[in-house]
Amino acid sequence: MKHSFEIAVFEGDGIGPEIIAPTVDILRRMAAASNTYSLTFTNAPAGAAHYRETGESLPETSMAVARRADAILLSAMGLPSVRYADGTEISPQIDLRKALVLFAGVRPVTVRSGQFTPLKLPEGREIDFVLIRESTEGLFYTQGRGEVTRDEARETLLITRDISEKLFRFAFALARARKEARRGPGRVTCVDKANVFRAFAFFREIFDAEAARHPDLIADHAYVDATALWMVQKPWEFDVLVTENMFGDILSDLGAGLMGGLGLAPSADIGLDHALFQPCHGSAPDIAGKGVANPLAMILSAAMMLDWLGLRHDNPAMVSDAARLRSAADQVVADRRVLTRDLGGTASTDEVARAVLDALFVA
Ligand code: ATP
Repeated sequence: MKHSFEIAVFEGDGIGPEIIAPTVDILRRMAAASNTYSLTFTNAPAGAAHYRETGESLPETSMAVARRADAILLSAMGLPSVRYADGTEISPQIDLRKALVLFAGVRPVTVRSGQFTPLKLPEGREIDFVLIRESTEGLFYTQGRGEVTRDEARETLLITRDISEKLFRFAFALARARKEARRGPGRVTCVDKANVFRAFAFFREIFDAEAARHPDLIADHAYVDATALWMVQKPWEFDVLVTENMFGDILSDLGAGLMGGLGLAPSADIGLDHALFQPCHGSAPDIAGKGVANPLAMILSAAMMLDWLGLRHDNPAMVSDAARLRSAADQVVADRRVLTRDLGGTASTDEVARAVLDALFVA
């Protein structure tokens, strides 16, 4: 009997609908060809355009779809021209992260041989590490609620034992899975600023306590500033990095830069009961409506979703479909024949999606 999964689809703003449509099409075709799983998709309206039309950025009905679904596929959201009364941007993805307690922001950084990177990698070197960004607290805790007077501005950084324990448990489990899949040595690096802030010494102490439960894995520490340097100088040495929200926000864009830009950077926000998959990039209003957005980060995020669902529901065929989808996208990038403008090509969004389908089903 086929395992059936409901996917909540947040189309988003700007290029969001343009990149999610071909991604859902690819997923539908993969599921149709599978004997072990089927997928249904439920649209959940939300975002900046929705707010402009209705006065609501994340309606309760869409929140209910997200809560009920087995996984959430979310495209880019927000538009610089549409803001709340206090001037902040509409970002329902952050509200979803908090409401569904999606504490682990998973940002894989991979550069396979033949793929573009602005770094000059030593012969035979590839980059393959995962950055885990805590996504519900840290320096984003008072987001939108900071106190600002004429002379002072204050925001609060919050690190809790509860979330940190869950976060580190997740990081070590991921390092173990990568070690078993021969993708890494089984190492977790806690990225912090424990030499300056007591809050990060607390963070590190909780990390060390979790590390002690995994004697078969390697645990070490790095300061965030040194990590930025090493991500440029020797990124192939990393396996799993785990860090606070704001540090992770910044380092994940650096990671996307190593991959040649945001167009290839997928991400997942994972909690104990829910998970959301979305590209790292924003809604790119400068190129929206032209059909030239790169769909690969969205497609790679969908591959992460298949992987997560397959592992969670013990469906190996889904895990292997995730790997097939990832390698089809990698192949399109390595071929360099059908690429969008951001990667130096001239192809449209749909042509790139078609090339991924060809690599999946025709090759
Ligand atoms: P946000 O704050 O919402 O993350 P941002 O300010 O980082 O957004 P993006 O919307 O990610 O900005 O766009 C940054 C630049 O990258 C823009 O020039 C945009 O056109 C480009 N870009 C982003 N995503 C893509 C994509 N999928 N394909 C092509 N170009 C993209």
